[in-house]
Amino acid sequence: MPEPDFDAIVVGAGPAGCVAATLLARAGHQVVLIERGSTPGSKNLSGGVLYGRVLETVFPDYAAEAPVERRITKHTTTFLNADSAVSIDYWAKSLAKPVNAVTVLRAHFDEWLASQAEEAGAFLMAGVRVDELMVESGQVVGVRAGEDELRTRLVVAADGVNSFLARAVGLRGTPRQEQVALGVKGVLRMDPKTIEDRFGVRGGEGAAHAIVGDCTKGVAGGAFLYTNKSSLSLGVVMRLDDLIAKGFKSSDIFEHCYTHPGLAPYLDGGELIEYGSHLVAEGGLEMLGEVSSDGLIVIGEAVGLTINSGFAVRGMDLAIGSAIIAARLADAALRHGDTSAQALDYRQRLLGSYIGQDLKTYAKAPAFLHRNRLYSDYGMLAAEVFRGVFSLDTTPRQHLLKCAREAVRGSGVGYRKLLADGLAGVRSL
Ligand SMILES: Cc1cc2nc3c(=O)[nH]c(=O)nc-3n(C[C@H](O)[C@H](O)[C@H](O)COP(=O)(O)OP(=O)(O)OC[C@H]3O[C@@H](n4cnc5c(N)ncnc54)[C@H](O)[C@@H]3O)c2cc1C
Repeated sequence: MPEPDFDAIVVGAGPAGCVAATLLARAGHQVVLIERGSTPGSKNLSGGVLYGRVLETVFPDYAAEAPVERRITKHTTTFLNADSAVSIDYWAKSLAKPVNAVTVLRAHFDEWLASQAEEAGAFLMAGVRVDELMVESGQVVGVRAGEDELRTRLVVAADGVNSFLARAVGLRGTPRQEQVALGVKGVLRMDPKTIEDRFGVRGGEGAAHAIVGDCTKGVAGGAFLYTNKSSLSLGVVMRLDDLIAKGFKSSDIFEHCYTHPGLAPYLDGGELIEYGSHLVAEGGLEMLGEVSSDGLIVIGEAVGLTINSGFAVRGMDLAIGSAIIAARLADAALRHGDTSAQALDYRQRLLGSYIGQDLKTYAKAPAFLHRNRLYSDYGMLAAEVFRGVFSLDTTPRQHLLKCAREAVRGSGVGYRKLLADGLAGVRSL
């Protein structure tokens, strides 16, 4: 066997790859981090709320040192109709300290993460696309990038939602259309004072809005509106099967959301300075395929690690968490000179961790979120209840319960479906 060029080759400099490369380099291994984008983050797109407690375990002062935008202390969940909306607001000062979540812009954030990997001793190769894995006698022994071959004792695939590497060795199949969503995102420039006045936040604090309903024209999914320092991140995430079935173009849905009268008070005057789209895994636990083979370990969204609870999209924190688990196991395997899947024992450790527990907790969420009534009827129903409460004329008032009963009767949803959906929601989310 020729001598390996590196102990570990990490493919993909997103959150998963950068953290894995940092930890393996800190442990004294020769690591190369390969990224196809000209700079880390240049090809990446997230809504942008990072639940960062897990990152703190690797970079304790990340919230002060990394290019983060705002500390999120306010979460708003909205049912949006064509001309009405019902929202729940949750604000808590305690979410600022310890920092629970921050907004990030990936072009800056991923670059910082990759620089931390370099500082730890990893060698960053940006602007290089890995074309395939080199496999000899069933063992992954390196990667090919164009004419170049790099040999290694272990490949860490952190190449994101499509993970051609994991698919090439049969660890994953092509995801089904209902297991992925298409996200379209725009960044709108806005001065910080306007942002703080409109979203009711101060200082470095920020708000995260999760919106369902008319913002996606009823397509299963939702919209997000997050505050950065001097910009807003606005996006729509639409389940691919429903988007195709309803025959809409994703750009038209984004345009509809961007110009929605219910969002205009937040967005007016914002200048669209960035626009892009990206797939996101939506299958949850059901999507988790095989996660390692001899000489290969797969982390982050490359194994489908995302959770969409309807209230929040989580992917970056799970990517980082899986990178930490994988790096620990890889370090031990490299030290013992055995990087077989059996020695790595990664699947068991991943499923036994809080990540595996969370995947199990939210395992029913994808099926629950397939109920189309969530994206149309319930927003109208909630608005109708509040219309009964707040719309005063000279007719006699009714108690809330009666308003609600009449709203249910008028909605066409029916008590049985309402009860079934309510129970399913409580059990899934
Ligand atoms: C619209 C949208 C909104 C989202 N909102 C949120 C959110 O608010 N919060 C959250 O936590 N998550 C969110 N997510 C999910 C989150 O973006 C992902 O889960 C997360 O980025 C996964 O991290 P990763 O490191 O596994 O993969 P990625 O971030 O996708 O990184 C993979 C890297 O690999 C590189 N790469 C791929 N193939 C190759 C190759 N062959 N050779 C070399 N390099 C390669 C890519 O260029 C990329 O840099 C959102 C996703 C979308 C699309």
